[in-house]
Amino acid sequence: MTGTVLVTGGSGYIAGFLIRQLIAEGWRVHTTIRSLAREAEVRRVLAVDDTRLSFFAADLLNDAGWADAVAGCSHVAHVASPLPAGAVRHEDDLIVPAREGALRALRFAKAAGVERFVMTSSVAAIAYGHNKKSATFTEADWTDIHGPQVHAYAKSKTLAERAARDWVAAEGGHMVYCTINPAAVLGPVLGPDFSASIEVVKRLISGSLPGLPDFGFGVVDVRDVADLHVRALNAEDMAGERFIACGPFLMMADVAAVLRDRLGAEARKVPTRKLPDLLLRAVALFDPAVRMVTGELGKRRITPADHARERLGWVPRPAAETIVDTARSLIDRGIVTL
Ligand code: NAP
Repeated sequence: MTGTVLVTGGSGYIAGFLIRQLIAEGWRVHTTIRSLAREAEVRRVLAVDDTRLSFFAADLLNDAGWADAVAGCSHVAHVASPLPAGAVRHEDDLIVPAREGALRALRFAKAAGVERFVMTSSVAAIAYGHNKKSATFTEADWTDIHGPQVHAYAKSKTLAERAARDWVAAEGGHMVYCTINPAAVLGPVLGPDFSASIEVVKRLISGSLPGLPDFGFGVVDVRDVADLHVRALNAEDMAGERFIACGPFLMMADVAAVLRDRLGAEARKVPTRKLPDLLLRAVALFDPAVRMVTGELGKRRITPADHARERLGWVPRPAAETIVDTARSLIDRGIVTL
């Protein structure tokens, strides 16, 4: 299938790979960015067939520009949502744009006669707020935003997806809505404006971590996340579906081991020692960004992607390839100097 699709947030990491794949497969793509002042720079980074890509200025917090952005589109991939590198001043700085942006994109999509709407949610809307050390979660689970140690980003993704689903149930009409719920997205970066999720590999190879904290995350490749979005945009009968996008759950020590094994001397700054929990908790008393991860110490949130594999034939690449490609691109682009 091809046609015209709106991908929101064209300056973003996942959106960039999604736009590339859609254009390579013959789609015309509309994309939003907050200001057209960035259009030339984003076009340069994407390096796709210019004639198939149109830019529109639109903010998640404002109606201006959305009607033009979605006009003529049969499909929408709503990807834009704030993803902070550290702590935020107030949780509403994330929650309001995430939730209002999703509802805004849905409203304008329906008014324009869009048939299919795929929203990028997160495992942050699935696997948090449950006080278990180790647990497996599926698409049937939801984050409990009132549970212990649920950070503002997880609240923003949960509230946005819930609000979107409620709106679709009440007002969506014939528009088909589903979500992709990725774990931590890694992989090659297209330029210096990459997602906060890349920071973990950047810090490991640049030597800015004194040791390896005892926490982990599900890993998924940005190219595979883009591919899963395209599969969902193309597929029939997706109404209400949720698709976890995740490969294996890896501890920081596992990621470090892959980097050391595969990068040789370029991994010389990757720490080998464990960072004691007590030390991390002490630093967290003064550093809100570190406080965000202390809740993850010792936890294992397993989020298998069986549903995406079985329903959409999705086959993610090996996590080691993703981790090495992340590091390689950061080094090759001079983002990390060794
Ligand atoms: P990213 O590179 O930071 O992209 C976020 C995008 O959202 C950017 O284009 C950003 O625009 C846009 N945005 C933020 N606030 C906005 C606002 N008020 N108005 C308009 N646009 C706004 O992060 P990403 O990793 O590609 O994330 C894309 C989506 O995937 C998000 O929904 C995120 O929650 C989800 N996700 C990401 C991960 C991950 O590990 N990276 C995992 C699960 C889910 P600017 O460039 O102007 O800031």
